[in-house]
Amino acid sequence: MKRQLTELAGWLKADGQNMENTIVTGASIDTRTLSKGDLFIPFRGEQVNGHQYVQQAFDKGAAASLWLKDEPGAPADLPLIFVDDSELALQQLARAYRNELTCKFIGVTGSNGKTSTKDLITSVLAPHFKVRKTEGNFNNQLGLPLTILTLEDDTDIAVLEMGMSDFGEISFLSEVAKPHFAVISNIGEAHMQNLGSREGIAKAKFEIIDGLKDDGKLFYDGDEPLLRNLVGLHPGLQTVSFGYSETADLKLVKMESGDEGSNYKVTGIVEGDFTIPVFGAHQVKNSLTAILIADELGLSQEEIRSALLDASLTDMRMQPVISKSGALFINDAFNAAPTSMNAALSFLRETGLRKEKWAVLGDMLELGDNERTYHESIAHQLNKIQLKGILLFGPRMKWLYDELKKTGNGSEIIWSEDNYEPLIQELLAYSDKDSIILLKGSRGMALEKIMNGVMEA
Ligand code: ATP
Ligand code: MG
Repeated sequence: MKRQLTELAGWLKADGQNMENTIVTGASIDTRTLSKGDLFIPFRGEQVNGHQYVQQAFDKGAAASLWLKDEPGAPADLPLIFVDDSELALQQLARAYRNELTCKFIGVTGSNGKTSTKDLITSVLAPHFKVRKTEGNFNNQLGLPLTILTLEDDTDIAVLEMGMSDFGEISFLSEVAKPHFAVISNIGEAHMQNLGSREGIAKAKFEIIDGLKDDGKLFYDGDEPLLRNLVGLHPGLQTVSFGYSETADLKLVKMESGDEGSNYKVTGIVEGDFTIPVFGAHQVKNSLTAILIADELGLSQEEIRSALLDASLTDMRMQPVISKSGALFINDAFNAAPTSMNAALSFLRETGLRKEKWAVLGDMLELGDNERTYHESIAHQLNKIQLKGILLFGPRMKWLYDELKKTGNGSEIIWSEDNYEPLIQELLAYSDKDSIILLKGSRGMALEKIMNGVMEA
């Protein structure tokens, strides 16, 4: 952004001091990542009072800062706006700035694949438009407004990730962003704790239509009956579905993986063959949204095809990494929940890229009361794959370990509660250029340490 501080005060209907001739070019809530020209927004929590960092923010180049009205000691010489509530002020600023922007907004939600879909959409559009996207995982009630405040006036397209853990959150984010296009990548089991059921999760994701522009469109996973039902309940809504299903508006009809990535064919709204440089049927499915949106924005099939070939995803999503011994790691260790676990294991089952297959799996966190069943039921998938070894890490993986033993899985199986070392040693001793090694677990398990251990040995 590029706005006078006095304009920001106007948006907030708030008073300030020393505001003249101050231009704000962004916003930050953290001095460690603050950029020059940012408006610093201090938060007052139980542990930390952000006002203590206001001076530091200015030292790092902040143009101005907010200051809570009831916080004593406002420095008289600095440009400040006085507000009642930091979070609310951030959100008000984002709403007001959003309404001044003329770019197209794309909101992406879903249980799995938000970041991947966002990256794929951005990859396809970036050669033709000035595209900005949510950095990393800045997808919540703070991250999304902050992202909006970094957009420039000449941005053509903003691709915003929308995450949630409870009802009402996606509705809120969508009302702030007012997207022209909304995407629901899929429905899984993450946040079952708060939402109760898959129906609840689908409803919560569907809230993305709450802020959708009147002439906006919803792109959704047409293989998910819960979403099809919800679409059925909204006859006026413009929708486009994608997936394997016969009724999908963009249908995936053929897919195979090669060393360079995944090759596939689609029919329906767009007809043709495409390649993306990542693995997994689920990533191919995520790319369908990118094809649809690019088509909607007028790109030719050839333009879409060549951009997808060069698409890049954020690290640790089905990312190929070759070790010194030539083993092919598939690093999908960014996160895990039952749906994405299934998706990654389906890829491992089907791939012919290497002869010897390894599954290195870590605990799936935040699954609520049924966590034990979710871990045990991975055995069913693993028993269908010819595996050289199964390496399990984390306390919850003991359930899977016991289940595998019970169901008679004949692979080499090692379980370690909290020590990476035995798993690293096993891979160093027995994996080689014929091996493909899938790494999959929740973020808290940091399974990439196993890969790094092998790489650094
Ligand atoms: P988060 O909620 O952590 O932000 P996200 O929704 O942004 O996650 P990604 O980071 O893209 O999702 O992917 C998370 C994991 O889910 C990765 O392991 C990825 O391979 C897997 N995944 C991505 N897309 C899908 C999909 N459509 N279906 C199932 N799993 C998927
Ligand atoms: Mg994400």
